[in-house]
Amino acid sequence: MKLIETRGNDGIKPTVVDFSQAILSPSASFGGLYAPQDFPAFEADFFTKATTLSYQALTLEILKRFAVDIPVSVLEEALGLYGAFDDPNNPAPLTKLDENLFVSELYHGPTRAFKDMALQPFGHILSHLAKERNENYVILAATSGDTGPATLDTFSDKPNIRVVCLYPQGGTSDVQRLQMVTAPGQNLSVLGIKGNFDDAQRALKHLLTSPSFLEHLAHTNLKLSAANSVNFGRIIFQIVYHIFAYVQLLKQGHISAGESVYLTIPSGNFGNALGAFYAKKMGLPVEKILIASNINNILTELFTTGVYDVRDRALLQTTSPAMDILVSSNVERLLFACFGSAHTRELMEALQTQHVYTLTAQELAFLQEHFGATYCDDAFAKETMRAYALKGYILDPHTATCLKATSLVTKPLKNILCSTAEWTKFAPTLFSALQQSPRTHPDKVALEGVSNALHVRIPRSIGDLFSAPVLHPNVVDQEAIESTIIALLSKELA
Ligand SMILES: *Cc1c(COP(=O)(O)O)cnc(C)c1O
Repeated sequence: MKLIETRGNDGIKPTVVDFSQAILSPSASFGGLYAPQDFPAFEADFFTKATTLSYQALTLEILKRFAVDIPVSVLEEALGLYGAFDDPNNPAPLTKLDENLFVSELYHGPTRAFKDMALQPFGHILSHLAKERNENYVILAATSGDTGPATLDTFSDKPNIRVVCLYPQGGTSDVQRLQMVTAPGQNLSVLGIKGNFDDAQRALKHLLTSPSFLEHLAHTNLKLSAANSVNFGRIIFQIVYHIFAYVQLLKQGHISAGESVYLTIPSGNFGNALGAFYAKKMGLPVEKILIASNINNILTELFTTGVYDVRDRALLQTTSPAMDILVSSNVERLLFACFGSAHTRELMEALQTQHVYTLTAQELAFLQEHFGATYCDDAFAKETMRAYALKGYILDPHTATCLKATSLVTKPLKNILCSTAEWTKFAPTLFSALQQSPRTHPDKVALEGVSNALHVRIPRSIGDLFSAPVLHPNVVDQEAIESTIIALLSKELA
């Protein structure tokens, strides 16, 4: 597999890199990202044949078609980590909600959010590459709540890796924060910052190019990588579950070979939706990808008006914090796939300097052939959560936004909703929805309240958090991020 740069080449970095190289050093020329040069195409009967494959075998087949430069034995070990999911034979079960509506449940991994789907195998592969090269890597992660726990879990005590995880103070749920600040690995550091997720992400992007920080790392023989969805090593695993969900529909007889489906995706940084777009490009029969957002509806605006405008926008806190984002990193890879590197660079530079870019009518029409988008407010999400809970199916606040996007469906086709988190990560919102009261309770009270009301079990990994010792108490101002991280990294590992 060869990857190229979304903003073109600066004459210093290599023009083309392998998969392993893109994973180890994910930042490309001019602040761009790496994206595939070519995509393998599925033959017409691929999906029918794939009905006999396990999730792991399907993933391996897709990775082989991309010809990734990682030994099959290492890939197999990495995919073996799906064995720790709720059902080792089916890490991403598909549930039928009604005649045309299905849910692809992507949250059955160790940290109860869909980030595990990609980060579990990714962590193993990155650690393998570092060990093989006898190099030590620092993984910087900025999180709005779910990337952090999933990154810490996958790298915990993994050889040749140090992790520094930034989270916005007050921008995550209690459960998410506890998953991070109680994370036990010797090689993990966790830092709360005063600011929102965009601030955390900006701090991370700044560090990736900060001369003083890079100099410190060079001094201490540490190399830098990233586990955010700017890293293509995550995106590749996010192509697979969309294909798997389609194949399950086929296998269960809900669709016939070649039939198109809608994919509905609660979106923030756009990694999940980009994976769907790549799958469509490779030949997955997708009528449209429907993007669901909360009131931070920058993606709705992009896909309905062709304008990406953050000039007069403040980030709003919602009950779906993983989607509280204004600068959605993976849109860049979509622009690149549709319009090429020269134009992507123009657009991204306009966003950086003028905080706005505008697509032509033709470009917008092209995007609209593949995407629809809409958003809902917290009241809609909560009412939806309550209505479905009463019908016997529990949704988290992110997944609930997908039900708004079903209004964009115009053809009588099946619609697969991506469910991105378990309710246990957002219990206060669900409990207040069930009680039809604006009052929110602490996570622990809400978890027990929901568990009693709906007769569902709280997984041990969540219940145990409340008595686990806090190992990472630090919260810092944005100005102090770099120096604090340098101090943390200077500590010797036990
Ligand atoms: C990360 C996340 C999202 C957004 O996914 P992107 O790939 O960043 O668009 C949605 N829901 C939940 C629960 C998440 O953790």
